[in-house]
Amino acid sequence: MAGAPQPDCLFCKIVSKDIPATIVRESATTVAFRDINPQAPTHVLVIPKAHYPDAASLAAAEPQVAADVLREAGEVAADEQVDGTGYRIILNTGSGAGQTVFHAHAHVLGGRGLEWPPG
Ligand code: 5GP
Repeated sequence: MAGAPQPDCLFCKIVSKDIPATIVRESATTVAFRDINPQAPTHVLVIPKAHYPDAASLAAAEPQVAADVLREAGEVAADEQVDGTGYRIILNTGSGAGQTVFHAHAHVLGGRGLEWPPG
């Protein structure tokens, strides 16, 4: 079934709490937790509880949940007080773009200067 938990998915195991994570926010449809290898003072991942391999497939199947992910990313930025100085929401899509976990997730990065274009 579309969106069903996948037994070998790391982020599905964080959703089910079978793998620990530092969760900073949770909603009915999303979980936000600190990245294990932070690239900025604020580096939080916002994921849908449903399993989709990337953000585009999530948006195609469950557009309201994709919107929930973006709203929660903004709430994380406000909670972390990086909304005033600026922050970045990143959706790596595909291994060539650096995606390593194939469960949709938005990186929220802030708290330092961010270069453009990203590397
Ligand atoms: P991607 O490279 O797919 O865009 O992002 C995956 C992110 O997940 C990486 O930034 C990586 O550091 C993070 N990550 C990988 N394994 C774990 C884990 O077990 N716990 C947490 N909190 N983050 C993880």
